[in-house]
Amino acid sequence: MKPAPFQWHGPRTVAEAVSLLAEHDGQAKVLAGGQSLVPLLAMRLTQPAHLVDINGVTELDAVRSDAAGVTIAALARHRRVERDENAFRVQPLLRQALAHVAHPTIRNRGTSVGSLAHADPAGELTAVLALCDGTVTARSAAGTRTIAAADFFLGPLTSALAPDELAVSAHFPARPAGSGSAFVEIARRNGDYALCGVAAVAQVDDGKLTGLRCGYLSVADVPLVLDLTRAWQADPQEAAELARRSVDPVTDLHATADYRRHLAAVLTVRAARQAISACPQRSAA
Ligand SMILES: Cc1cc2nc3c(=O)[nH]c(=O)nc-3n(C[C@H](O)[C@H](O)[C@H](O)COP(=O)(O)OP(=O)(O)OC[C@H]3O[C@@H](n4cnc5c(N)ncnc54)[C@H](O)[C@@H]3O)c2cc1C
Repeated sequence: MKPAPFQWHGPRTVAEAVSLLAEHDGQAKVLAGGQSLVPLLAMRLTQPAHLVDINGVTELDAVRSDAAGVTIAALARHRRVERDENAFRVQPLLRQALAHVAHPTIRNRGTSVGSLAHADPAGELTAVLALCDGTVTARSAAGTRTIAAADFFLGPLTSALAPDELAVSAHFPARPAGSGSAFVEIARRNGDYALCGVAAVAQVDDGKLTGLRCGYLSVADVPLVLDLTRAWQADPQEAAELARRSVDPVTDLHATADYRRHLAAVLTVRAARQAISACPQRSAA
């Protein structure tokens, strides 16, 4: 199948892109890396009358890291973020998660902000943004607003972005001092979307675990974040059981809901142990 007819627009600035989205409000879609949108167009699952292609908006091709965190602009490809040493130092979960996103060819083209805008609960970065309490900044003709991750993901493939809004950047706060992180997932084949994935951030002080939060993908309509500190302090198996009971997966062609619940429990322990090992002061847990 071929896409339904559309008019292509090639803005050169954010202002032009935003004004095109306002002009064709509700009729236009942003085209970033095209790795999700183009298949949807080809299958006619979406039929926008206008495509606002932001690939010529060079001001959006940026990754900035400082003590506060990593800000990824809308045209930065997954691969660029994955390879960015400063971003890795400030927020290691970005590289840890991006290594699991599809294949390198797709990461060469797909954008990290596009992946968040796409809001697939199987997307690795959705769980990372939620776990880090990150934000997405959106611009429209009406102005700019910053949306917290907790308010950004509304459901499968549904974000809080209005049709006339361009997500200009996403901010991933820096890893807390003294913390360690890890990302693990299970997919049927290397590069497939995960059946279940877990991002973990652990904090160890004076040899004792003082914090453990995990972010989950592919087990609910939106990325899920759990604070497992007390459960883990009591017994790691208690944390695993809490994760198993908290997720709300569906059965599909790839796995049953029960199997996904099982994975959530197993991967919680695996991710937590790796995150604890990555803490500068490891505990005996
Ligand atoms: C075979 C295959 C396997 C994949 N596996 C994975 C995987 O394991 N994990 C994973 O996370 N992803 C996976 N992906 C998706 C990939 O990560 C995409 O790059 C990503 O989901 C979308 O990014 P994009 O830049 O390609 O966006 P596009 O495809 O261009 O756009 C996707 C959607 O987001 C909107 N959008 C994009 N950018 C913006 C913006 N700045 N502002 C507002 N709206 C915007 C578009 O209008 C569209 O609705 C896979 C893709 C393929 C083809």
